[in-house]
Amino acid sequence: MIHSIGEREGLVSILVVGSVAFDSVKTPFGERDRILGGSATYFSVAASFFTNVRVVAVVGDDFAPADEAVFLERKIDTSDLERVQGRSFHWSGEYGYDLNVAHTRDTQLNVFADFKPKLSEGARETPYLFLGNIQPQLQVEVRKQVGARLVAADTMNYWINSTPDELREMLQCIDLLIINDAEAREIGREANLVRAARRILSMGPQRLVVKRGEYGAAMFTKESYFATPAYPLEEVFDPTGAGDSFAGGFMGYLAATNAIDEASFRRGIIYGSVMASFNVEEFGCERMRRLTHEEINARFRELRAFSNFEEAEMPPF
Ligand code: AMP
Repeated sequence: MIHSIGEREGLVSILVVGSVAFDSVKTPFGERDRILGGSATYFSVAASFFTNVRVVAVVGDDFAPADEAVFLERKIDTSDLERVQGRSFHWSGEYGYDLNVAHTRDTQLNVFADFKPKLSEGARETPYLFLGNIQPQLQVEVRKQVGARLVAADTMNYWINSTPDELREMLQCIDLLIINDAEAREIGREANLVRAARRILSMGPQRLVVKRGEYGAAMFTKESYFATPAYPLEEVFDPTGAGDSFAGGFMGYLAATNAIDEASFRRGIIYGSVMASFNVEEFGCERMRRLTHEEINARFRELRAFSNFEEAEMPPF
């Protein structure tokens, strides 16, 4: 059975808080300075292929109309994007040939250091909330203002190490955590991923999604387990934003169908993997800005075929 999504309604259905940033990125294939990035940016661009998205973040006066155009051309609502004097968040990172591991060279919070999000009334009524990677205190402040149906969050080693108490508080107010495998091991304080997952599920979230870079993704609840491979790409150009575009595809699909059951979560994992696979093909949001629904659907079908197998039972030998 093919599960299709109906027409999109006029409602804003996902709210995301996270970084809107300028990134300086170096990979073995090239280098870019101060390109538009940030967790909220990658997330909202990916999710905007599925549903309406509103972004909560702060930018400085270096955020130009050409940067906002990336949001507006995808019809992302920027009315809760605050603009203040100063410089926007800046992240500088580098990847070696193991593209699964980002090496942070520099993180400058800049305008995020004093950000106190005050959400508009419309934003507070959004049914799906994604707390993108940013200070856990900000994630909690936004969470408290929104009575969402489903709350998911991401984080990273930077916050796990520098703000562990705030992170613990954040974990207690979410339904779903979406992190990479190294972060899962760190939060769970366990080298074994299954045991780390069990630990994390006892800290608050009912569901855990673990992103494993080129090896795919896994999803854990106390009762269930699901895993998928990644789309087998020959060219990975810039892995920055893979995690956020994964989360955007995943949450975007859930919000579009407004169904939060096991089968929908599983399809969401596939859409997340599809969006991440496109994002890493080029620097920044470049590939996503040219992406079409036909391409998304074709890759979804391929990914399904790659891991589909028939039931079998061997007789005793
Ligand atoms: P990912 O999807 O995990 O590759 O995230 C990439 C984005 O995260 C980059 O565009 C960065 O601007 C952003 N980022 C990096 N470090 C941080 C941080 N400590 N807090 C918030 N955002 C960050």
